[in-house]
Amino acid sequence: MTHLEDTLLEFISQTSTNLPPDVREAMGLALDVETPGTQASQALAIIASNIDMAADDSGPICQDTGMPTFYIHTPVGVNQIAIAGAVRKAVAAATRLGKLRPNSVDSLTGKNSGDNLGAETPVLHFEQWEQDEIEVKLILKGGGCENKNIQYSLPCTLDHLGSAGRDLEGVRKCLLHAVWQAQGQGCAPGALGVCIGSDRAQGYDLAKQQLFRTLDDVNPNPELARLEALIMDEANRLGVGAMGFGGKASLIGCKIAAANRLPASFFVSVAYECWAFRRLGVRLNPADGSIVRWLYRDPSAPVKRMARAEGFPLTGREIVLTPKLDEAAVRSLKVGDVVLIRGEMFTGRDAVHAHLMHHDPPVDLRGAVLYHCGPVMLQENGRWTVKAAGPTTSIREEPYQAEVLRRFGVRAVMGKGGMGARTLAALQECGAVYLNAIGGAAQFYARTVEEVVGVNWMEFGIPEAMWHLRVRDFAAIVTMDAHGNSLHAGIEQETGAVLERFATIK
Ligand code: SF4
Repeated sequence: MTHLEDTLLEFISQTSTNLPPDVREAMGLALDVETPGTQASQALAIIASNIDMAADDSGPICQDTGMPTFYIHTPVGVNQIAIAGAVRKAVAAATRLGKLRPNSVDSLTGKNSGDNLGAETPVLHFEQWEQDEIEVKLILKGGGCENKNIQYSLPCTLDHLGSAGRDLEGVRKCLLHAVWQAQGQGCAPGALGVCIGSDRAQGYDLAKQQLFRTLDDVNPNPELARLEALIMDEANRLGVGAMGFGGKASLIGCKIAAANRLPASFFVSVAYECWAFRRLGVRLNPADGSIVRWLYRDPSAPVKRMARAEGFPLTGREIVLTPKLDEAAVRSLKVGDVVLIRGEMFTGRDAVHAHLMHHDPPVDLRGAVLYHCGPVMLQENGRWTVKAAGPTTSIREEPYQAEVLRRFGVRAVMGKGGMGARTLAALQECGAVYLNAIGGAAQFYARTVEEVVGVNWMEFGIPEAMWHLRVRDFAAIVTMDAHGNSLHAGIEQETGAVLERFATIK
């Protein structure tokens, strides 16, 4: 199979950089329904520009290219070991080219392998079939939305929804809860892949496999088709909105399968997928590995443009922040303000925060903007360049953030999805803010980076190192201020009240 490795490299690159047409269509509908001028519509405008930029420049749509997960069908007699070898080589090559972020971390040592290869990565599922072609399907599902996957064991009691029993009404409550609990942390608007039944492990796998259905298909089972339509309707009336900012577009798809279960178990497994819904497929000629046809996309058709206007819709009311920030300026900011950052900021996520608990920072963080981001970086001609740099889910840093604010004088923490009560109290005490950047807008934000000024703690691996980035007009929204206000807490409360109404409406 002379072409196989090259074919797979092209396939992985397309998956990472070019959102499939059915997802573009669904995101177009989300843009249409959102109220103009709201924070959710601003977020969707940035997302739309980002999707176009990624396709135009063949850059990763989101910096988190996830755990590459392949489902491969082969005719009887095809050498699956050779295919697995070619997949691994193609994954390593895509990582070298910056199409995938190095995302494979040794769970015992914490060391990043640097090439996306390692124990059980990439994830490969093989199956034989009685067709003549090889079929390869790939999903790149990032950590933010993967962390919002959820499994329910019925009967159970759910926040705001009460008891959920072992029937489709109980399943309906679970699925509404799944959308509600994700809020902005899974980069809404999202999609649900669902499995009713099976066991814990297979239930999650079958739920993920539902994400390979196109968003516009109709479930052949009429009962499940009705439930899918009901969830789409109700979830989009919850008010979670893009990035959890509140709004009309919370869900772009709901795909449900049912599998037999043990008499003692009734699991509802949910794979929550973000708007950066990267999945593709190809049919290959087993003789030489060349592409017979693409699945989910028609390469001869023009790619649908997403952006309705050029770039970020500025109103003139944006506030320019030039680090180092002083306390008075930061205390004057309030929830809802849009800021444009000009100057130097530092990235720091899980490893940096854990390390700061016992070590001093390598730079003076007083007045700094600390950005929760694990970028895709490439070294070109001896210089580091940013290939993708959107925010990561901030709530993971909740155990550390208050101490980092108090000890080191950071004035602005930036990420996505918001943070908890301990951070909110520290923001108030120290005179600092939380800024919400738009999740997944990795190309959009990469273009605001004028220079990679330096890097510390490279031993943590590229995504976890502390990068010093000089940016121009990096746009974000104040969602937690120094006066004790949190947009996230407010939206969670409001949407919880809507859930309570849905507890009884069918
Ligand atoms: S869009 Fe958000 S949830 Fe999805 S992979 Fe990117 S950062 Fe993660």
